Amino acid sequence: MDLFSNEPDLLSLPYEEVEKIASTCQKCPLSKERTKVVFGNGPVPCNLMLIGEAPGADEDLQGLPFVGRAGQLLTQILASVGINRPDDIYITNTVKCRPPENRTPLATEQEACAPYLEAQIKFVRPKIILLAGSPAVKAILKTDEPITAIRGKWLKLPGTDISVMPIFHPAYLLRNPSKEKGKPKWQTWQDMQEVKNALEYFRKVTELSKESED
Ligand code: URA
Ligand code: SF4
Repeated sequence: MDLFSNEPDLLSLPYEEVEKIASTCQKCPLSKERTKVVFGNGPVPCNLMLIGEAPGADEDLQGLPFVGRAGQLLTQILASVGINRPDDIYITNTVKCRPPENRTPLATEQEACAPYLEAQIKFVRPKIILLAGSPAVKAILKTDEPITAIRGKWLKLPGTDISVMPIFHPAYLLRNPSKEKGKPKWQTWQDMQEVKNALEYFRKVTELSKESED
């Protein structure tokens, strides 16, 4: 990611400093209509991270990610496989400010905001990143593959060893509430069980490497 030379090098600053800089950011036009910057929320570091699209109305008011209706569904889905907010997952979005009328963020806005996301990934050091919905998939993986084709697949964050899985956005699941086998909600539950198993694997590997150090 190229930072302009007159900008602070976010990667060299502590997490709290980067969050503070973001809180007054005006690097893209989304700064004009936002109420609060929604930086992200969860433990730092954390094995699991989720990147959504953009803050909505509730998030914009509270300054926290995924707290509206879609967020509540996300919380339930995670809890159903034993992943609890805020302790077990760090959550953020491709852009930190709410787009007007909840429109999809523009690629230029996602690019302007990307240095924050890059810094967050550096601080959080996730083993797994979930990409919720197409705008997150597009921004991070630079692919136009539809979410229906790519969801549930284990991929890598380009240039890193971090595992990435695209999943349906919870707002899409609100519009497709059937739990029938093969439907998006059922598919998401399959995806989340895989994520849970992978997390368990990483937890055991960490434990074993600690034991061998002792
Ligand atoms: N939808 C998102 O993509 N992100 C949020 O934080 C809330 C709703
Ligand atoms: Fe800055 Fe990101 Fe908000 Fe744009 S969306 S103003 S780049 S924090």
